[in-house]
Amino acid sequence: MSGVFVVGSINQDFVLRLERRPEPGETVTGAELSLFPGGKGANSAVAAARLGARVAMLGRVGEDAFGADLVRNLREAGVDTTHVGSVPGVPTGSAFITVTPDGENAIVVSPGANRSFGPREVDAAAEDLRAAGVLVAQLEVDAGAVGRAARAVMGAGGRFLLNFAPPREVPEGILALADPLVVNEHEARFLLGEAGGEPEAAVEGLLGRGPRSVVVTLGAEGALLAAGGSTRRFGAPEVEAVDTTGAGDAFVGALAARLAGGDGLEEAVPYAVLAGAAAVTREGAQGSLPTPEEVEGLD
Ligand code: ATP
Repeated sequence: MSGVFVVGSINQDFVLRLERRPEPGETVTGAELSLFPGGKGANSAVAAARLGARVAMLGRVGEDAFGADLVRNLREAGVDTTHVGSVPGVPTGSAFITVTPDGENAIVVSPGANRSFGPREVDAAAEDLRAAGVLVAQLEVDAGAVGRAARAVMGAGGRFLLNFAPPREVPEGILALADPLVVNEHEARFLLGEAGGEPEAAVEGLLGRGPRSVVVTLGAEGALLAAGGSTRRFGAPEVEAVDTTGAGDAFVGALAARLAGGDGLEEAVPYAVLAGAAAVTREGAQGSLPTPEEVEGLD
């Protein structure tokens, strides 16, 4: 048993660099537009594939030019897209990201086709799911599909890595299937409320929600792993942070790749910390995902 299976989102990212955001009713011209492939699911699938894992993905795009390009991009990155379909009459998922000169970004997401699949589409991929070592999912797609896929993978002896991003209410049972549950500090606070506090205390609260293991990513501070009754912090190397977009997806993809390759969490988490650090040294989400040589170069 080996390989990573991602049930997740595929988005077209529209990045607008502009002097300032318009007030309601106002028009601002002169914005510079760049298009990038995105979506947390696709980003983590490409991250795992770039690090040498065998990766398949279940997802949906619209029957439009963006969708076709995004699927081609996944295939070129080495991701098996057998279970990526296009949905007629629904637009491809899109993220509209405005970036002002101070580096601040504001994002509007239109899920489009990402919300057009559920448990039925998961069942159609059951055979490949059962052959996967690690299932990766985030929360940009239907939670029912995620739960169904997790049960299929785990029923065949695989594990379920749940990245709780973007944070939203989900059926409680899904958290209990995760091994590990991966959150950043913001997502930890969403799950725990103000009780979040220090990360070391937060992991106890998060374990109390049922997952077998928890990873809290801490940006430049690295990550915290709670598993098997102990908690360990893995520091990140000092790097020149150019753009942190996609660091979390790089982390998740690297973690999944190592777990699918047979590592335990104690080995896979420090590797993922290095992959996240490598990703912040370059601009963009998928464009900044590191190769194995770049990750090892930071060790
Ligand atoms: P994003 O939403 O920006 O993709 P995130 O908030 O989900 O990221 P972070 O905790 O910010 O996730 O980062 C994930 C991992 O990336 C960290 O655990 C760390 O390994 C690495 N990382 C992020 N920022 C830095 C940094 N400034 N320096 C070194 N490593 C970093």
